[in-house]
Amino acid sequence: MAEELTGYTGPATMEKITSLAKRRGFVFQSSEIYGGQNGAWDYGPLGIELKNRIAANWWKAMTQLHDEIVGLDAAILMHPRTWEASGHVENFTDPLVDCKKCKTRFRADMVPDENLANKTCPECGGELTDTRKFNLMFKSHIGPTEDNAGLIYLRPETAQGIYVNYKNIIQSNRMKIPFGIAQIGKAFRNEIVTKNFIFRTCEFEQMEMQYFVKPGTDVEWFNEWKKRRWAYYEKLGVKMDHLRWHQHGPDELAHYAKDAYDIQYLFPMGWRELEGVHNRTNYDLTRHTEYSGKDLQYIDQDNNNDRYIPFIIETSAGLTRTLLMLICDAYDEEKVADKGDADDWRTVLRFHPVVAPVTVAMLPLMKKDGLAEMAQDMRNELKEDFATDYDQAGAIGRRYRRQDEAGTPFCVTVDYQSKEDGTVTLRYRDSMEQIRVPRTELAEKIRQEIKSYKRKA
Ligand code: ATP
Repeated sequence: MAEELTGYTGPATMEKITSLAKRRGFVFQSSEIYGGQNGAWDYGPLGIELKNRIAANWWKAMTQLHDEIVGLDAAILMHPRTWEASGHVENFTDPLVDCKKCKTRFRADMVPDENLANKTCPECGGELTDTRKFNLMFKSHIGPTEDNAGLIYLRPETAQGIYVNYKNIIQSNRMKIPFGIAQIGKAFRNEIVTKNFIFRTCEFEQMEMQYFVKPGTDVEWFNEWKKRRWAYYEKLGVKMDHLRWHQHGPDELAHYAKDAYDIQYLFPMGWRELEGVHNRTNYDLTRHTEYSGKDLQYIDQDNNNDRYIPFIIETSAGLTRTLLMLICDAYDEEKVADKGDADDWRTVLRFHPVVAPVTVAMLPLMKKDGLAEMAQDMRNELKEDFATDYDQAGAIGRRYRRQDEAGTPFCVTVDYQSKEDGTVTLRYRDSMEQIRVPRTELAEKIRQEIKSYKRKA
């Protein structure tokens, strides 16, 4: 049934993903011993490795591979005028309705039309309140008093930190238009509906890049960034038939945007936004000029010192949402034997090796006869260059399965032959193929395999 509703036909369900994530230490509920904190999650040993690698991969794709894009790490706490200028104080709201009887709170746009029209609760049939605007920004106070003078917001997007630094960066780094500024960092939104695991949370991370262009060239650059972001996912080995574009209609378009497309991914619960590519026009810089009183025009020294406020093309992806997407995308169940028991199946996460939390696992066939020492010794050699794991507990088949479930692309087994001729077994996660490789060539072999990795359908 669910498949018909969502279009998703793969083996993952959100229950399976959530339970695997907990069991293997990817993601835990925040403050679980106190019953959990809604909308907040903790990243365990495998989760933080995966998250760091996704961030590093994005950072490389957006900065290292583009001469004209530089990085920034702005503070989460910003001057409150920032959010007046950006329009968030006024516009960053969700429409809310409450049920007077069961007290459930709904986002009005998620309540069926007929319930909204006759004001009945879709859960219990009780009476619904009128729709009210609810601002999604978290408020706090800075300083010793809790009055409005110390009002401060947790940033709901990383973008504004880039805009308010754009002049600093032009001056310090002699940037010329077109150029970009990339940033990865936390953002906070008081989301009302936080279901679907880490898909929509109150505390999350964004990977945003703001590209400053000359007015009139914005449409061209917008199309160019759409192409580049699509190619990014292709290179990461994501199932491309699980990605699609969704153009914002007039009722979805943010107050600052001229055009906006989302890249949507087919999650087990259906098509959902993964990333937005937006033409934010010169709205933000114009507003910051107005609110700060500072001149934020760009002076084009190569063109008679022409002055203008640049247009901005934004690519805005969720880091934590990308992590969820990659786990769902990588998740597979494969029949590998026919004995009629649970061992016939393996669960495997087919991560691209550049993001896999562990790249190589060293597994001595036996603990004894010096095999463990040899494997540990090899791990020490490899760990300068790769994220490694070591496992000597239990049958070798079981250990492979454990690594499959963690998404480790390469396992290396040290056996008796290794002691004789210095070769080891390299086992591939995806095909389960095993080959013998001289120990001295192992690191280079793995490096090549990572470089030439192509996901098989
Ligand atoms: P939605 O309409 O789903 O609330 P949005 O359109 O407001 O999202 P943007 O403001 O464009 O989202 O944010 C850019 C990206 O940041 C999103 O594509 C998503 O990947 C991520 N993101 C936004 N809100 C959240 C959240 N509450 N939890 C996790 N990731 C989020």
